Amino acid sequence: MKVDFHCHSNHSDGELSPQQLIQIAREENIKYLSITDHDCISAYHNNNLNTDKLQLISGIELSTYWRKLSIHIVGLGFDINSQHIQNAVKLQNTARANRAGIIAQKLEKKTGLKNILEELHETKIPSRPDFAELLLKKGIVNSTNEAFKKYLGSGKIGDVKNIWLSLQEVIDIIANSGGIAVLAHPLYYKLTNTKLNQLLTDFKLLGGKALEIINGYQNRQKTEYLIQLCQHHDLLASAGSDFHFKSRWNRLGIETGVVKNDSLNWIYDEF
Ligand code: AMP
Ligand code: MN
Ligand code: MN
Ligand code: MN
Repeated sequence: MKVDFHCHSNHSDGELSPQQLIQIAREENIKYLSITDHDCISAYHNNNLNTDKLQLISGIELSTYWRKLSIHIVGLGFDINSQHIQNAVKLQNTARANRAGIIAQKLEKKTGLKNILEELHETKIPSRPDFAELLLKKGIVNSTNEAFKKYLGSGKIGDVKNIWLSLQEVIDIIANSGGIAVLAHPLYYKLTNTKLNQLLTDFKLLGGKALEIINGYQNRQKTEYLIQLCQHHDLLASAGSDFHFKSRWNRLGIETGVVKNDSLNWIYDEF
């Protein structure tokens, strides 16, 4: 069966509209789809989404920290009308807007560009990919990848620490709105095995319920490792493409059949 519990629409830093994502999911025969925009649930505000042939599960990807390390928690299957999740979105977006101002200032100082925020003048709060696009457009870098490498990626000047909700708050908010908290892309944090186990122990103690055992294109070895961690920590298994835009490397949908492990508890059984 094909599922996708992690992808982005143009309500955050994805390219396609929610309806376009759903249309592709239908063509790809995806049975469960969740659109998990960064700190935002407005993809679900459209009541006219045609979800024929698939089950659309509410979703969000919340930014937070674990021991000063920036991590992402996906929330799935919550009530989009819950005050808990709606307040969280407001707080995260205030934090995002403040951070955008600081990133702009820092980039201006470093690159000599002027009025970066005005240049972006978008309807959305600029996220790091928007700053990367601007640096590319202005000829400061030759690719958005280079923009992340030099200016926006981990430890660089535009990687501004932010006052996100805490990990405990994020997990509570998801649970209180009736959803399931998933630790997103566990290998993306480049932790040692010991540290990753510590993160999972803390996540579980705080009320976290699931682990993303597949994130986008991933080799079998990594998947096997994450299955083992998932079972060791007695978490549900989730999987998602983390699709942002069409590329050679990324497409919507994960085939759950690639996991040959009958004792794994998949998250879709909860919906
Ligand atoms: P933000 O949520 O504003 O902190 O932006 C983070 C987003 O930037 C991630 O969700 C990715 O979509 C994107 N991103 C992070 N690192 C890179 C990178 N090295 N190259 C391109 N995009 C990236
Ligand atoms: Mn993103
Ligand atoms: Mn993420
Ligand atoms: Mn994501």
